[in-house]
Amino acid sequence: MNGGDQVLQSRGAEHYGPTGAFAVSSWLGPVLFGGLGDGAVVAVERFGWWLHLFTVFGFLCYLPYSKHLHILLAFPNTWYARLTPKGEMANMPDVQKEVRIMMGLEQPDPEAPAEVPEFGANDVFSLSWKNLLQAYSCTECGRCTAACPANLTGKKLSPRKIMMDVRDRAEEVGAAIAAGRQTQENYADGKSLFDYITPEEIHACTTCNACVEACPVLINPLDIIVQLRRYEILTQSAGPADWLPMFNAIENNGAAWAMSEERAAWRAPG
Ligand code: SF4
Ligand code: SF4
Repeated sequence: MNGGDQVLQSRGAEHYGPTGAFAVSSWLGPVLFGGLGDGAVVAVERFGWWLHLFTVFGFLCYLPYSKHLHILLAFPNTWYARLTPKGEMANMPDVQKEVRIMMGLEQPDPEAPAEVPEFGANDVFSLSWKNLLQAYSCTECGRCTAACPANLTGKKLSPRKIMMDVRDRAEEVGAAIAAGRQTQENYADGKSLFDYITPEEIHACTTCNACVEACPVLINPLDIIVQLRRYEILTQSAGPADWLPMFNAIENNGAAWAMSEERAAWRAPG
């Protein structure tokens, strides 16, 4: 297109005003098209112009169906990225309330509903739209996994895989709803995110945030890991047996270690 344009400019053709020299097309144009008549060069230039346009539009149409979708989604994903300190975890108001009642800072509400709320997430339905947007924005570059200390020490955890698993599950759910096999309101295919992500993976996470720091598009794989773990521990009452003494100690003593003394008793009297 530019080669033909340069030739036509040099001939003073109508509609082809001077644009200045192009680095490559200024010498390639005359070499390729210098021997053609004006009409043929205009045809070459117009063909090149439409080819550019259809290539760009064609790629835009293909984009949502390809792995390159992350190029577009990286913008909204970065815009909606969390601005609070990375180490700050999302609070669970129900648990906080229980702890405050336990410590005598709040009185129990006699009117409160008796049913136990569900904690964490076990499927894409209980993840937030931001978690799902992040799953689709992942470029699969692997920087998070390269920085993950659990992965580096041979544990079965890859934050990159966590993001890809969430996306795969979202794809599966979306395809079933689109095909009319399931409805969004009553979705039940007998599967969950735990069919993609094993407990061994989520137990290996040290919540160090290295993956969050490493991600070039501000994705937070840790948030999903923490939500899965909260579901497993708090909603399913499952989890590794050797974690139970720690949970009991926190509940009874307010510390991770089983201490017979009050936690603050070491302080100077008074
Ligand atoms: S927060 Fe968990 S997944 Fe992320 S780098 Fe640390 S150990 Fe790995
Ligand atoms: S660093 Fe970010 S973009 Fe790269 S694989 Fe991990 S989550 Fe995806």
